[in-house]
Amino acid sequence: METAFGVEAPITVDTAVLCTQCSGAGTAPGTHLATCEVCGGRGEVQSVQRTFLGQVVSSRPCQNCQGHGTIIPSPCPTCAGDGRIRTRRSLTVKIPAGVEDGMRIRLAQQGEVGPGGGTAGDLYVEIHERPHDVYSRKGDDLHCRVTLPMTAAALGTRMTIKTLDGEENIEVKPGTQPASTLRIRGKGVPHLRGQGRGELFVHLDVKTPTKLTADQERMLRDFAKTRGEDIAELSKQGGFFSRMRDAFNGH
Ligand SMILES: [Zn+2]
Ligand SMILES: [Zn+2]
Repeated sequence: METAFGVEAPITVDTAVLCTQCSGAGTAPGTHLATCEVCGGRGEVQSVQRTFLGQVVSSRPCQNCQGHGTIIPSPCPTCAGDGRIRTRRSLTVKIPAGVEDGMRIRLAQQGEVGPGGGTAGDLYVEIHERPHDVYSRKGDDLHCRVTLPMTAAALGTRMTIKTLDGEENIEVKPGTQPASTLRIRGKGVPHLRGQGRGELFVHLDVKTPTKLTADQERMLRDFAKTRGEDIAELSKQGGFFSRMRDAFNGH
């Protein structure tokens, strides 16, 4: 229902946010960053090697300042110099009507702040659709099964079924065959982009009665007779296969 019509879902996320005490700088109040003495603020150190090819100059990030070029002489006590702190936040995510399992919703700048501050990244919320207990979903179409007695399928009937929007009266035509499908237009899931909705398919299972009273059996046999249907009776002892054997043995 929620993926069909949309919902405002509350979520809780653990993310790093900007440290308010140092505003992301990582320095204790009243102190400043200092230039790294090892690399002289370049953030990388060079080494020169003599090889048979000649002089090879290679550079690697400075290990003293992790490539920043600066060091924090007295780190901010709140974030220990990271410029960010971990917090748990509550957000409300607007889930649009028509989303599907596996889709992702992007919340701009609701992700993590990087070390040293800066703009937060994005937060992606992935949709997991819980199955409905009546409908199965294929794209924006919905499918459900309804069982009706053999007699109702033969005579035709009206019945009330539940849709996402409430109750709907449907008509089963006389002479409905097993495994027939009824289509109810526009009662599926709304399309995510643009107008319109999918369809609702009602699959009809025609049920044959399993236990007949003597009266019911007689009426059914009379019914079959009026239609010229020759229905062999099962013998009470042996059933179909014993009659087959009898037929082959010439009894
Ligand atoms: Zn801080
Ligand atoms: Zn350095």
